[in-house]
Amino acid sequence: MSERHVAIVDANDFYVSCERVFDPSLVGRPVVVLSNNDGCVVARSAEAKALEIDMAVPWHRIADRARMLGVVARSSNYELYGDMSARAAEILSRRTASQEVYSIDESFIALEGTVDDAIAQAQAIRAELRRLVGLPMSVGIASTKTLAKLANRGSKSNPALGGVCHLGAYSAARQEAILASIDVGDVWGIGRRTARRLAPLGIGTAADLRAADATLVRRRCSVVQERVVHELRGIDCLPLEDVQEGRDQIQHSRSFAVPITTAAELAEVLSVYTQRAAARARAQGSMARAMRCFAATSPFAAGSHVSHVVSVAFPEATDDPLVLHRAAVAALGPQLEPGRRYVRAGVSLHELVDRASHATLDVFGTAGDERPGTSAVVDDIAERFGEQSVGLGLAGLRARRAWTMRRDMVSPRATTHWDELAVVHAR
Ligand SMILES: [Mg+2]
Repeated sequence: MSERHVAIVDANDFYVSCERVFDPSLVGRPVVVLSNNDGCVVARSAEAKALEIDMAVPWHRIADRARMLGVVARSSNYELYGDMSARAAEILSRRTASQEVYSIDESFIALEGTVDDAIAQAQAIRAELRRLVGLPMSVGIASTKTLAKLANRGSKSNPALGGVCHLGAYSAARQEAILASIDVGDVWGIGRRTARRLAPLGIGTAADLRAADATLVRRRCSVVQERVVHELRGIDCLPLEDVQEGRDQIQHSRSFAVPITTAAELAEVLSVYTQRAAARARAQGSMARAMRCFAATSPFAAGSHVSHVVSVAFPEATDDPLVLHRAAVAALGPQLEPGRRYVRAGVSLHELVDRASHATLDVFGTAGDERPGTSAVVDDIAERFGEQSVGLGLAGLRARRAWTMRRDMVSPRATTHWDELAVVHAR
C-alpha cells in the first residue's frame, strides 16, 4: 500500500562527526567539542558519553581528568559545522519533494511508497550522505513527526537496524511495547516539566499519553500537549513546512540556538539568511521576482503559537542581497509581536528566472539606487576568503566578533577556506 511517510534524518553526534570527517584519527576515540571560548562541553562522541563526561559541564573543571582518560577536546568550529549542515541539507533536498530543515543537523522529509520502499529510500539517503558529506546519520520514519522522532531513538539505540527505524514495520503489539518503554518526558514536545504535570493523571510513558483522554490532557496542560496525543495516534497535526528546494525555489531557514525577541535581532538574522539565499541564487544563475519570509515561535512554547509569513514581489528580478534584506526587514519587521520568543525564521526566493535570459534593462531605475555588482563583489570575496570574511551590515559584524573568541583547539575550516584544506599524505 502506498502512503506518505514522515522521516527525520539526523546526524549522529553532529559536531564531533564533522571534526572526524577531516581528522580520521579521532574515529573511535572519546571526543568532546567545547562551546564559545572553550567554556563547556556541547557535544560528545559515544566514547566520551561512555566515560560519563556530562553535557554542559565546564571544561576547566574536567580537563585534567578528561585528558588522563584520553579525551580529545576541540573548540567549536561553527563555520565548518554550518557548511557541512548546508551540504547535507542540499543533498537531502534532491531526494525528496518536501523537506523541512529543522535544526543544524536534522531535517524532516516526506517519503512515498510502501513501508519497505520508505526504508530502502532512507537507507539510500543515509549511504549517500555518508559518501558525499562523510556524516553518519540516523533516520526515524513514521506517520507523524512526533512518532518519527520516537523511531529515531530506536535507530540510534539498536545498531542491528542499520541506522533506519520505521515504526510502521512493527506489529501493533510491538509498537505498543516500544511506546510503553519510553518515558513521557522524552516524547518530542513534552519535556520534564510537563511530564510532572501528567504524572498525577497516571501518564508516565508515551503509551500512556497515547491512550489518554485528549480533552483531559488539554485541560490539564494545553492544546500543544493535546496535539501530541493525536500525533502519537498517527494523526498528523504538525505538517511539514512546505519548503521544496530546487531550481524553482531557494530556501534558507533555521531554528535559532537562542530565541530572538527584538526587531534588531530579526534584522541581523535576515541579513545572514538573505545573503545566503542570494549567494545560492547567483550560484545557480537565477534571479527572483518574489520572496517569502517567515518568523515563528515554538509550537511547544506556553501560550499560542504564532507564525508570521509575508510575501514581497519585486518589480525587477533580483539577486542583490541588499535589496532582499531591505525588503525582508521592511515586510517582516512590523509583524513581530513584542514579548514573543521567536525560534525559527526563513527566507525563500520564488518565481526564479534565468539570469542569462533576463536582460537587466533597468532604464526606469526600478531596482533603486543599489550599485550593480555589489553582490558579485561580496560573492567573490566570500569565495576566495571564506563566507565569514565579508558580510553586509550586521552579517559582517557578527563574523568579526567571533574572531575575538577564545578557541585554542579549533580545527581547520576545511570546506570554506582554501588555505585550510585538509592535507592528505600518500605512502
Ligand atoms: Mg543529531
